[in-house]
Amino acid sequence: MSFSDFHGNAEVVRTLREMLAHERFPHAVILSGPQGSGKFTLAQMVAKAMNCLERPVTDGLPDFCGRCSNCVRIAEADALEERFAEAVDARESMRDADKRETRILVQTHPDVMVIPPDPPQMLVKVDQVRHVIHEIYYKPVEGRERVYIFSDADFMKEAANSLLKVLEEPPEFATIFLLTDNPTALLPTIRSRCMHLRLAPLPAEEIEQYLAQVRPEWKPRERALVARVCGGGLGRARSFDLAAYLSARQDALALLAPAMGTKDHSALFRVTDTYRAGAEGKAKTEQLIRTLYALLEDLLFLKSGTAELVRNHDIQPELAKMAGQVDFAWLVTATQRLGEVESGMRRNLLRSLSLDAFATSLEP
Ligand SMILES: [Zn+2]
Repeated sequence: MSFSDFHGNAEVVRTLREMLAHERFPHAVILSGPQGSGKFTLAQMVAKAMNCLERPVTDGLPDFCGRCSNCVRIAEADALEERFAEAVDARESMRDADKRETRILVQTHPDVMVIPPDPPQMLVKVDQVRHVIHEIYYKPVEGRERVYIFSDADFMKEAANSLLKVLEEPPEFATIFLLTDNPTALLPTIRSRCMHLRLAPLPAEEIEQYLAQVRPEWKPRERALVARVCGGGLGRARSFDLAAYLSARQDALALLAPAMGTKDHSALFRVTDTYRAGAEGKAKTEQLIRTLYALLEDLLFLKSGTAELVRNHDIQPELAKMAGQVDFAWLVTATQRLGEVESGMRRNLLRSLSLDAFATSLEP
């Protein structure tokens, strides 16, 4: 592994490496970009380059070896989802008193810490930031630079204020990464103290080429679909669950059928009946809602003459037929009603009923 394994956004990668080369690395960096654009992968690469024992140089710029003991231990956190799940499981098995005091942190090297959002709220909490403050002022133990990666910089208010204090007086030997798909959600006072680098979404064609290598089992038209649905995020495309998406899309189309004049509702009820309570049902419903939004957006693209933006282009003839049957006002109403289903889900309303109500309310 080296920086050359990072796909796309060559200028951002180069900027980061130039700063490493000149030993002018900022104390805090916001790395923003869409889901799956490689924010965490890149931050991990920088953490390795900062602490690599072999310090290789490629193309005249600092790189990392991926083999030394520092690189290897930092890389154990590359599989962040697994490390995160382990940390959550470990906390679940604690006594209640300890559970309350334990915050989720991922640390596979003494000088590099990943701070994921803490469940169930999935926000960074003040105790997590306190943990960072507690050790950030100590010199690195085995590396040259302490690195703190907030993998999804969505803070509770008190946590954000606490982080601000560190950013006002950062130690020489530490770097903080704030990764986010929505940098405007960060406090302006935090943003003004960070350097901001943006990972742009990759063009669909580039993702398709990459998928041809890593997902050869997908047909070309499936790769084209995934590349478009993933909105330019390479990581998201690589791990995309195509079967789950296609099944959600089929259900979403069944939900829109009454709006297209289908009188027989039995198919609709058969579909909504499969959306049950519980965690699994929740994930399935969330995917259905996301897919419905994407279909409504595609219909909007078709109606406004920007068919090249359609993501579900493998079913474009079907979508074009649907677009011919609805007007802009219907699309606006449908999007609003979908928002109501979403907020109803947060209040735990019965899913199948609220999906039925959504579908039948859109009938002509
Ligand atoms: Zn190394």
